[in-house]
Amino acid sequence: MTSPEPLPDDWQRALVVVAHPDDIEYGCAAAVAVWTAAGREVRYVLATSGEAGIAGCPPEVAGPAREEEQRRAAAAVGVAVVDFLGHPDGRLTEGLELRRSLAAAIRRHRPELVVTMHWGETWTPPGVAPAYWNSADHRALGRCAVDAVGDAANEWIFAELADPEPWRGVRWIAVTTPTGVTHAVDVTDGIEPAVASLSEHRRYLAALSDEPVEAQARSVVERSAPLGEDGRRYAGFALFAG
Ligand SMILES: [Zn+2]
Repeated sequence: MTSPEPLPDDWQRALVVVAHPDDIEYGCAAAVAVWTAAGREVRYVLATSGEAGIAGCPPEVAGPAREEEQRRAAAAVGVAVVDFLGHPDGRLTEGLELRRSLAAAIRRHRPELVVTMHWGETWTPPGVAPAYWNSADHRALGRCAVDAVGDAANEWIFAELADPEPWRGVRWIAVTTPTGVTHAVDVTDGIEPAVASLSEHRRYLAALSDEPVEAQARSVVERSAPLGEDGRRYAGFALFAG
C-alpha cells in the first residue's frame, strides 16, 4: 500500500451501513473500536437480519439469532445502537426502495461520517485470479448507501419522508474496499476488541468452518488491517465527500 492519508477526524457521529450481520466485523470493526475508545459515537444500520445466511437453519430461527449476535458484536466495540431495516436477505436490489429506507435511516441517526461497504463486482484486486465475486446484496447496498446520503439531504426526492426531516450534515463517506484505498485509520489498538466482536458471530462462524471461532476471527481481522512498515496495523478506506 502506498501511504494513504489519515482519515479525517472532524466528525463526532458515524453511521456504519451494511447489508448483513458480520459485514462490519469482516470490514471495519477495528476502526470502530478505535473511534469509540476516542469518545466518538458510532451506530450501525443493517439492511437485513442475515436470515438466509446459515445453511440448514431456517430463516425464522437464523434471523433473530443473528440479530442477537450482531448486538453483542456491536457492544464489544462500544456500539449501543443497532438498527435492522428488515429487507430480505439475499434479495437486496439497487433501487428506490432501498435508497428510501437508507435515507430515512441516515435522517434518524444524523451522522457526520457514513461508512459503507465495497460495491465492486469482486473482492479481489484486478489481475488476481481466481477472483471472489461480491454478493448481489453487497453490490446493491454499497451503491444505495452512497446515493442515500444525497437523498437524505434533499426534501424533494422522497417527499413522503417528511419526518424525520432532511439531514445535510454528512461530511464524509468512507468505503471499506480491497481496491482504491485513499485513506487509512491506525487500528492497532482496535485489533483485540475487533477479534472479540467478530467472535460473537459464533453460530454463523461455527457453521462456516471447523476451525475454532476465535482463530477464524483473528485471521479475518488481521487480514482486514495489514501491517504497515512502522509495525502498526492500518484499515484502508476509499473516501468520498458527503
Ligand atoms: Zn454480507
